[in-house]
Amino acid sequence: MEPNLQELKTRLAQVNDLQSASALLHWDQATYMPPGGAEARGRQLSTLNRLAHEMFTNEKIGSLLDELKPWEDSLPADSDDAALIRVTRREWQRAIQVPSEFEARLTDHLSVAYQAWTEARPDNDWKRVEPLLEKTLELSRELANFFPGYDHIADPLINFSDEGMKAESVKVVFAQLRSELVPLVEAIAQRPAVDVEKLNGHFPEAAQMAFAEDVIKRFGYDFTRGRQDKTPHPFMTKFSLGDVRITTRSNEADLQELLFSTLHEAGHALYEQGIEGGYEATPLAGGTSSGVHESQSRLWENLVGRSCAFWQHEYPALQNVFPSLQSVSLEEWYRAINRVQRSLIRTDADEVTYNLHVMIRFDLELALLEGTLAVRDLPEAWRARYQEDLGIAAPDDRDGVLQDVHWFGGTIGGAFQGYTLGNLLSAQFFDCATRVHPEIPQQIGRGEFATLHNWLRDNIYRHGSKWTAPELIERVTGGPLSIKPYIAYLRRKYGEIYGL
Ligand code: ZN
Repeated sequence: MEPNLQELKTRLAQVNDLQSASALLHWDQATYMPPGGAEARGRQLSTLNRLAHEMFTNEKIGSLLDELKPWEDSLPADSDDAALIRVTRREWQRAIQVPSEFEARLTDHLSVAYQAWTEARPDNDWKRVEPLLEKTLELSRELANFFPGYDHIADPLINFSDEGMKAESVKVVFAQLRSELVPLVEAIAQRPAVDVEKLNGHFPEAAQMAFAEDVIKRFGYDFTRGRQDKTPHPFMTKFSLGDVRITTRSNEADLQELLFSTLHEAGHALYEQGIEGGYEATPLAGGTSSGVHESQSRLWENLVGRSCAFWQHEYPALQNVFPSLQSVSLEEWYRAINRVQRSLIRTDADEVTYNLHVMIRFDLELALLEGTLAVRDLPEAWRARYQEDLGIAAPDDRDGVLQDVHWFGGTIGGAFQGYTLGNLLSAQFFDCATRVHPEIPQQIGRGEFATLHNWLRDNIYRHGSKWTAPELIERVTGGPLSIKPYIAYLRRKYGEIYGL
């Protein structure tokens, strides 16, 4: 192997090891750590993150990248080595733009803001976080300004999580989608509401866990390279390609919470477990963008896990585990888990209204960054948009502007668009898979998922971050991101459920 490449890989693996150690401490914090560990854990995480940043931004990595340039140019464009050098260079250049003094200031501020939010939300105390959010907005602008030459100040922040997207391109997609969704939600609201009362009951946690884990095992989640634990806010994390973990939460009065959060996080994990083994411990060994990542969680959770075909096979088994469901028909169950309603909380929203929640946040983020909306006016702007788009407004800030952690634990800008891009892509990718393999829906109806999983692995998962999201979408679907498959999917499914 090219000696400079060998040295680059060695250095990248060391950076990766520090990042993995940090992820492991974070996983422990969110699952098993006693509360007394919080203060020291904060310090440990910040030390590891600082060391990883210093090691990665080391000049030696820059000079290795320079020396490798002629060799990189001689390789075919789809070569893994060329991709490794290209992606490393992109991330290295991004990392050195941001002074470590700023990184430290941002991290310190965000840990204070996050802590304040955890107390302000239950107390419905907006005033407590308002000055902290002012500061977060200032720091978010400062961060964006390390990347001059943008069209919109949100562009660099959007680009961090969804490479290749800009405020303007997201706005165009969202405007098209909104014009389709608003009338669809309106039409559904005119129809009789779906009854969910019959789903009430007591569902022991251990039985819920066993059922959900049996499903994801059949999806292809490999428990010899992963495990599932409990946490208040479910997430997926990875320490190596051989250790990709998921977390979930349970509610013994509600069968949907643990099940669908497990299917969702398993979708993220299938992506990471499917990455080419040779990419281990390099910048290629991760999902390519937040939108593509979310497309996989939503594909397995919704397009598979909330489909009629899926439940034709799984429902009798679920009824066996929970006998109170014997009085709920398959049809009633299917309609209940797909009930559409205008609600206040994004994370509880159904497939049809979910994207409206995301668009509200995206527009407010842009307005804050542009300076056309002041932080002190945010709660009122939030209520006004909910009234306008969903016809309801939260009675308080707890279920309004304080509901999401994103602006309190991270910067303002770039955090929300990936959810909706993911929904769009989930349908676009699923469409492609079923065009190549028209037998997939029938297989899902028999509880078989290997054809779908293999297609996703070969066309998407395997590549890790080798291609940017726009490149990957083009290679997989033969065209750019499109709202059409998603809209067609919603119309077909909900048209049938609601008799539209
Ligand atoms: Zn997700």
